[in-house]
Amino acid sequence: MTRSASGGAFGRMVSVAAPLVPGPVVKALASPYIAGSRLEDAVRTVKGLNRAGLCATVDILGESVEDESRNDMTVSDYKALLEAITADRLDANVSLKPSAFGSTTNWDASEAAITAMLTHAAELGVFVRIDMEDATTTDATLALYRRLRSTGLTGTGVVLQSRLWRSLGDVQALADLTPNVRLCKGIYLEKPDVGLQDYDAIRASFCEMLRRLLSRGSYVGIATHDEYLIVEALRAVSELGLSPDAYEFQMLLGVRGDLARTLAREHRVRIYVPYGSDAAAYSQRRMRENPAMAGLVGHAVMRKLIRRNGAGPAAHCDDSAKHKGL
Ligand SMILES: Cc1cc2nc3c(=O)[nH]c(=O)nc-3n(C[C@H](O)[C@H](O)[C@H](O)COP(=O)(O)OP(=O)(O)OC[C@H]3O[C@@H](n4cnc5c(N)ncnc54)[C@H](O)[C@@H]3O)c2cc1C
Repeated sequence: MTRSASGGAFGRMVSVAAPLVPGPVVKALASPYIAGSRLEDAVRTVKGLNRAGLCATVDILGESVEDESRNDMTVSDYKALLEAITADRLDANVSLKPSAFGSTTNWDASEAAITAMLTHAAELGVFVRIDMEDATTTDATLALYRRLRSTGLTGTGVVLQSRLWRSLGDVQALADLTPNVRLCKGIYLEKPDVGLQDYDAIRASFCEMLRRLLSRGSYVGIATHDEYLIVEALRAVSELGLSPDAYEFQMLLGVRGDLARTLAREHRVRIYVPYGSDAAAYSQRRMRENPAMAGLVGHAVMRKLIRRNGAGPAAHCDDSAKHKGL
């Protein structure tokens, strides 16, 4: 079956509409995907996951930050998270996005802040993964990873996206580091000269990258909810004769919890747990991915447009998303 990787016309429609959705509606739609706004919310969520036999990677929401003066606060928020993981003996590590440290406006300042944070993480023995953002950042992020490794910060990992034409080359280019890699399809929609557009091609690329990474000894976080890819991954680890500590599955909080719990009976499964008050960008990407939200998004956008055009009384946002169990 061939289908568009972006969800076709519908995906593009929702993608355009998502930024128009009122904040309270975004918050309600996003609630299954986000632990809450405070560190305590994340700790409580991780404890629950741990009790269910799942581990976690915790991300503090906030991306595309343009004010590098916020870096000190971001580093100190991450340090508090690292200390909570250690103090509460959570089975969790940490994920971060370079743009949360202002990388889009000042890469050097963001790199200094990330290095400070990673140094503290290394002292506490907590692993940190650098998330991958859109393709304009891939070169810089991989170069950052290489520099961090060269300074002895080994408890760090990177992300590769099977959507990108370049990614098989990146597997090869990073081989000397035997990197710890999260492998995912890639959430950012890229132009045809940068990213594969065909769903099955992205899957094929994922399978090929996975086999090459595993067979060269990389620890791989297999980040997908796609059952086809999970079956292919299970086949690859079996054929390569790998033990369960050579890889893990990774899923997002709020997505396919049933599948996560089933896999966790025999495999390590890590859940991505975002928290924080800055949920807009993360939530809008989740909305683009989830067709079940279409009706709610469409409804909310219509209300906003009607309000803007003065064609009716101001509509009140409600929390209907929660009632619908999304
Ligand atoms: C732990 C983790 C970390 C990630 N880190 C990054 C990163 O650093 N950079 C990056 O670009 N991307 C990242 N991603 C996102 C990833 O690239 C994909 O966009 C996302 O996982 C959806 O792809 P999929 O493989 O699950 O397949 P899809 O074909 O998109 O989904 C397969 C099935 O999963 C379910 N599903 C998927 N998403 C949702 C959703 N939002 N709501 C409800 N159901 C859903 C549906 O049943 C769907 O049919 C990460 C994903 C995970 C799981």
